[in-house]
Amino acid sequence: MASLYKMPVSNLSGIGAKRAALFGKLGIKSVGDLLNFYPRAYEDWSTVEKIGQLEYGGTFCIRAVLGAPITDSRISGGRIISKGLVYDDTGSLQIVFFNNRYISNMLKGGNEYFFYGKVTVDSFGMQMVSPTFSPISDGMRIHPVYKQTSGLVSKTISNAVRQALALLPKEINDPLPDNVRSVFGLCSLRQALNDIHFPKNRDSLDAARKRLVTEELVVLNLGMRNLKNHSRGKSGVQIKKDYLGEFETFLPFTLTNAQKRAAADCVSDIMNKTTPMNRLVQGDVGSGKTVIAASVCYTVIKNGYQAAFMAPTEILARQHYETFSKLFENTSVNVALLTGSLKESEKESVRKELAEGTISMIIGTHALITDKTEFNNLGLAVTDEQHRFGVAQRAKLLAKGENPHLLVMSATPIPRTLGLIIFGDLDISIIDELPPLRKPVKTVIRSASQRKGIYDFIRREVVEGRQAYIVCPLVEEGELEDVAAAEEYAAELMMKEFSDIAVGLVHGQMKSDEKDEVMKKFVANEYSVLVATTVIEVGVDVPNASIIVIENAERFGLSQLHQLRGRVGRGKFQSYCILINDKSSQVTRERLEVMCATNDGFKIADEDLKMRGPGDFFGERQHGLPQLSIADFADTASLELSQKVADYILFKHKDIYSDELRLLRTEIDRLFERGGANTLN
Ligand code: ADP
Ligand code: MG
Repeated sequence: MASLYKMPVSNLSGIGAKRAALFGKLGIKSVGDLLNFYPRAYEDWSTVEKIGQLEYGGTFCIRAVLGAPITDSRISGGRIISKGLVYDDTGSLQIVFFNNRYISNMLKGGNEYFFYGKVTVDSFGMQMVSPTFSPISDGMRIHPVYKQTSGLVSKTISNAVRQALALLPKEINDPLPDNVRSVFGLCSLRQALNDIHFPKNRDSLDAARKRLVTEELVVLNLGMRNLKNHSRGKSGVQIKKDYLGEFETFLPFTLTNAQKRAAADCVSDIMNKTTPMNRLVQGDVGSGKTVIAASVCYTVIKNGYQAAFMAPTEILARQHYETFSKLFENTSVNVALLTGSLKESEKESVRKELAEGTISMIIGTHALITDKTEFNNLGLAVTDEQHRFGVAQRAKLLAKGENPHLLVMSATPIPRTLGLIIFGDLDISIIDELPPLRKPVKTVIRSASQRKGIYDFIRREVVEGRQAYIVCPLVEEGELEDVAAAEEYAAELMMKEFSDIAVGLVHGQMKSDEKDEVMKKFVANEYSVLVATTVIEVGVDVPNASIIVIENAERFGLSQLHQLRGRVGRGKFQSYCILINDKSSQVTRERLEVMCATNDGFKIADEDLKMRGPGDFFGERQHGLPQLSIADFADTASLELSQKVADYILFKHKDIYSDELRLLRTEIDRLFERGGANTLN
């Protein structure tokens, strides 16, 4: 079996070196790859319609006789058009092909075929243009449709898969043990492989998919749990004394109970422990996660170690640097900043002091994890806005010390089912309480035609001393165009509507010192209005800002809108979020209305997951999870089932190192290797 899986596809008949290279382009090198190359869609040929019943515009499968041989004729541009008339006992329809000189050989007059395609109409009546077809002897089936590449069509792939399946023995080893399969009603791997490619009907396809999806999620689930239990050795960091109480005396406010709980969780993770902390602090935007991180950093530093705090953007790193510097003003903690935009000489001197240990608290961006950065004795690594970092980056920061403690912070509320997997390797503290005196942000939807009224409203707030963000429309072509649009938007405002109001502009293409300059001015209320692209999405904290206007709100995901909205409502003022919706569609409206109905990030995340899938939690950002081949993070039901199956497996087999789980373990390794994440060892 194993050797069959590894056999190169070129050993299959009909696949020479050239074709094998094309398969390679799709990531298919071996027979195993081929079997795991699941169809991207299916054509349902199992329900055959009568020609008399067809509706224009629909895609159907018909069973019909080709009346007379296909006729070829030449049309403009030297193209060949091939036509034929097919009929069943209810009517007839024309089939049309372009530039396919083999059609008349493949379809014979007087023979009966299945035809599958979209039904259109022209002056001659009903037709199918370029339908796919197969002889009646093929039977009524569901046909797989594979992702193709230039020179390699779905049909060729399907032929190869058919050969590969024929080579498989009747019974093959199954990573899911029999007992597990029978308890959860999952079919065998052999059956599933067969039916995912060539299902007899809908039911067999569903069963195959259920089995494969469940297996993949179980493998991921167990792999993540294993990372948590085994991935890290003993920590050399010795935390003997708790400095939380002392830290609290620096604060201008008292911690909320939820903050106290989270900080206490962290301290109990690290006090007199040899296993390193792996904790996620999850709390909605504005819930006050930064001080929790600061409190743990303080404890670690006072015990003689260094702490590192990594933020995803320069703006955010700079802001945290200022917060920390202020907090630790009258202490022995030496705070420094390390970001990519510092001058080379500045970076060098920070790195030197870091390696020597004179800097005890370092705040920075990805610059912290480059090879050049060394620590003297890193005791704690903190990552802010975890969804912006991958598991691999987290691991890189940890590698800067000897199994230092890890604290990750996330404002992205992830639905529980998904969180269990994504953060399967972390313990979780949830901050479910906002600091006192916060007024919930009022959210409204407006159309572009109401913009004038919105500007008047901003003006009134500005007169009161407040500030506003305006998030510019995203022009979808790319970042440079977004920036151009933002520049234009800001220029227009400065010249016309807000010619007497200080307007700033910040976007992702600016140099970081320029960005910093603008942000500093906004923080100091030297700008009343800040026009921005989504660079302000994460973390930025200006409590005096009370309005955020989001242009083209319909182009954002709900979770992203929620993050953006989190830029206001951070102080004692009533704040407003104005979503400008340029689309009149009902679906969009409903989606945006979720924003008006709730300020609860978790509810929004659930809605988002239902409506858009998990893309918004990860986007194109690297989340560090393995790439899934069939399962889908948005499929809550399967996530739940896989959780149960994984629990059951661990209950029955103690841990994944038991012999019955040998094959499953191989699958875990395979999945995690593919994703570039850690593997088992
Ligand atoms: P986030 O959880 O989004 O990272 P921050 O840590 O930036 O939130 O905190 C948001 C704001 O709330 C900051 O201005 C911070 O100083 C303030 N804050 C945090 N905790 C409290 C508290 N317990 N009482 C009052 N204000 C607080
Ligand atoms: Mg934050």
